[in-house]
Amino acid sequence: GQRETTDLNALADEALALAYQGLRTDNPDFQASLGKHFDVGLPAWPVVKSDLSRVLLNLCANALYAVRERQQHAAAASSDYEPTVTVTTHHARDKVEIRVRDNGTGMAEDVRQKIFQPFFTTKPSGEGTGLGLSLSRDIVTKGHGGTLTVESCLGEGTEFFITIPA
Ligand code: ADP
Ligand code: MG
Repeated sequence: GQRETTDLNALADEALALAYQGLRTDNPDFQASLGKHFDVGLPAWPVVKSDLSRVLLNLCANALYAVRERQQHAAAASSDYEPTVTVTTHHARDKVEIRVRDNGTGMAEDVRQKIFQPFFTTKPSGEGTGLGLSLSRDIVTKGHGGTLTVESCLGEGTEFFITIPA
């Protein structure tokens, strides 16, 4: 695809809304707090819009899945828990960083090491193909010369970091 100068705040906002809508269609009683920390000084950025949109959608969908899963366990233990997914954008000189953070289930180290492999999934069949993150990493690295990395803590949450150079 061709790069076009894009409002990444709007693209991230749309992806988060779409992922939330998607999850709520199947789980109407589910609610999460959606945080948005958008850099207002972010200039329009040259990206392959449809590709980057898929990446953001997958990261937001994964994050919402993880908070819902944690909530189901929390509900069983009747603890108070507020599912939250936060998207952050930040412009620094010659690159843009987009972060998607959740306070969901988090991942064990052995899982975290495999998540970018094609077809790796911990979801029941029908709910995940395991292709989202391997595709996302290709789009970000090969398609945009950027990076896609993750930090996660089991039982606490996960944060994905995208950087895209100009
Ligand atoms: P899928 O969503 O179809 O399983 P992905 O490639 O998008 O495939 O993700 C692969 C796996 O990475 C997931 O099945 C899950 O185990 C793990 N994962 C991804 N994002 C998160 C997250 N935000 N929190 C916890 N685990 C995650
Ligand atoms: Mg996925």
